Amino acid sequence: MSSAPFDSTSGSAGQVRFFNPGPVWVRPQVLQALGGPMMSHRSQAFSDLYGRILEKLPRLFRTKGQAHTLATSATGVWEAALVSCVEGPVLSCCNGAFSDKWGEMSQRLGLDTTILKAEWGKPILAEEVRKKLAEKKFQAVTVVHNETSTGTISDLPAIAKVVHEGSDALLFADVVTSLAGTRVEADEWGLDVAVCGSQKALALPPGIAVFSISEKALAAARQKKHRGLYLDLIDVETFGKKKQNPTTPSLPLLYALDVQLDHILAEGLENRWARHHSMLKAVEEWAPKAGFRFLPEDPATHSPTVSSLYPPEGVNAEELNKAMKKEGFTPGSGYGKFKPLNIRIGHMGDVDLESVKALLAAYDKVAQGMLAAAAVGAGTKS
Ligand code: PLP
Repeated sequence: MSSAPFDSTSGSAGQVRFFNPGPVWVRPQVLQALGGPMMSHRSQAFSDLYGRILEKLPRLFRTKGQAHTLATSATGVWEAALVSCVEGPVLSCCNGAFSDKWGEMSQRLGLDTTILKAEWGKPILAEEVRKKLAEKKFQAVTVVHNETSTGTISDLPAIAKVVHEGSDALLFADVVTSLAGTRVEADEWGLDVAVCGSQKALALPPGIAVFSISEKALAAARQKKHRGLYLDLIDVETFGKKKQNPTTPSLPLLYALDVQLDHILAEGLENRWARHHSMLKAVEEWAPKAGFRFLPEDPATHSPTVSSLYPPEGVNAEELNKAMKKEGFTPGSGYGKFKPLNIRIGHMGDVDLESVKALLAAYDKVAQGMLAAAAVGAGTKS
């Protein structure tokens, strides 16, 4: 059980002005925890701290199995899963900047990689995965649950069902911007490795990754002869049994993770998911009235943690966000090829609905001001 009751006053209380889709706003209590004392990562005091974390983490992933940390960003665990567990063909589902990169990583590692491509802003469809699985035997499938680059969520449970019904492939899921923001069920869905970074819906500073790993993935890793050293997940498991990491961990981030896991579990995962969905709903209700349009067309694929939106016709996305900065707000820009075209609002972590509403009101004011100025400009020219 969580050690602390949920402190509802420790959220953002309508005051957050930082809406980057990661790194996100971090509670002062978490920032404070970063300043804990240094100690040996082979000491009993460390194992006490790490033991608490290893006890709480599986609850976040909804697994009765194992969950661990690595002092890398999330990308490090993508690579750890591939180098530790996989020798055979990989099916990489790509529908945005991050999933594309995971596919590229698989290719760069020299793995026989098949790319299943969907347009940016569209989800990965279970039916398409089924077709690919019928064509070839894969050892692993990679999929990004929530594509942060486009604010698009795929139906991961449906994909997982197809993978497990149609093959014995390992399923590696990136839950970087879904974990602690919407439902993620490692055991129920059969996620063999579920990877998450710290600086998203967990609302921690960047610099540490957390992941769950199934017995099936560990068995595959044990079979693999060359797993490298730094990212060997069998080493992580072995040291985990001693409540340690194989190499020097990020002590400040572990202090912060310990505190934040208490906070998240005290809020309750279901409550946290509901809060994230209510922030998305606020954006969805506001957008059409304000002349903004979601990049993912299908509302069922709107991300509960990040909204990617086109501004009203005649408003330049980059100019709009510059003007928002002057109002004291920092939203995210569009990503990659969408950078000049749209904006992204990160509504994840410990940000509250009132803060999101303040941001939306500011967007209204600023966009309307820009449209009015453009109309005056056009009038003086004619
Ligand atoms: N996966 C997703 C969905 C992301 O949003 C990000 C970063 O934004 C990453 C992976 C990569 O995370 P990191 O840069 O922390 O390794």
